Amino acid sequence: MALFSRKEKYIRINPNRSAREVRPQVKPEVPDELFSKCPACKQTIYQKDLGLEKTCPSCQYNFRITAHDRLTLTVDEGSFEELFTGIETKNPLDFPHYIEKLQATREKTGLDEAVMTGTAMIEGQRVALGIMDSHFIMASMGTVVGEKITRLFEHATQERLPVVLFTASGGARMQEGIMSLMQMAKISAAVKRHSNAGLFYLTILTDPTTGGVTASFAMEGDIILAEPQTLIGFAGRRVIESTVRETLPDDFQKAEFLLEHGFVDAIVKRQHLRETISRLISLHGGVR
Ligand SMILES: [Zn+2]
Repeated sequence: MALFSRKEKYIRINPNRSAREVRPQVKPEVPDELFSKCPACKQTIYQKDLGLEKTCPSCQYNFRITAHDRLTLTVDEGSFEELFTGIETKNPLDFPHYIEKLQATREKTGLDEAVMTGTAMIEGQRVALGIMDSHFIMASMGTVVGEKITRLFEHATQERLPVVLFTASGGARMQEGIMSLMQMAKISAAVKRHSNAGLFYLTILTDPTTGGVTASFAMEGDIILAEPQTLIGFAGRRVIESTVRETLPDDFQKAEFLLEHGFVDAIVKRQHLRETISRLISLHGGVR
């Protein structure tokens, strides 16, 4: 029986010695944060070359930036006064581990929710400002996001300020179910009251702006700007393709496609956003 069995002792030279000991693998150590790979053109970019705008030097792709970085790029230094912090969700569906997830995300991002709200000066003009941050549970819209944006509009109406809102979102926050969807109507009503008071509302759609945010306040701006190549849509591409049973064009749901079809007023490069916002506010009766 043992005639053809493998004779272990002739194959293993030294079973106690691992391969790594025989030929040690020396890998060069490169810190993760030193280089980034551009998802659009696949180039490896030295972090410092991305600049504060975090734009790819080869193809102009805009990396997703945090609300804090966006704030630095947009407002006059030291002019931001944060409002409506400390509002907490009641976890209406008792969704398991939701509160813990929120707490961990707060610590990771330094934000209290997926939108930062307050007042600031942009080139000397006072505005009510909201910045959504996709690093916070994909900037999904739950009750707190809805409440903060609603209060921002109410404050702007009372103080007669224009609203500048940077949108980003993966859609409604599933952990809050129907309560998330109700925010669409609540915010829209506040937008309408702000509009009825004759005040200016500017939205800047950043990557990605989707779901219930697109279907409500992102598209209710008096003027709608977008950053190049931003993904803007309601339902996902695959859902639409399987519903209409058609193949959609490659640039479907990109800012450039939406501009061509009249859903967006202009595409503005990140480097030019601040001056464009400032000019639009002054044209529409900015407050100094
Ligand atoms: Zn690139």
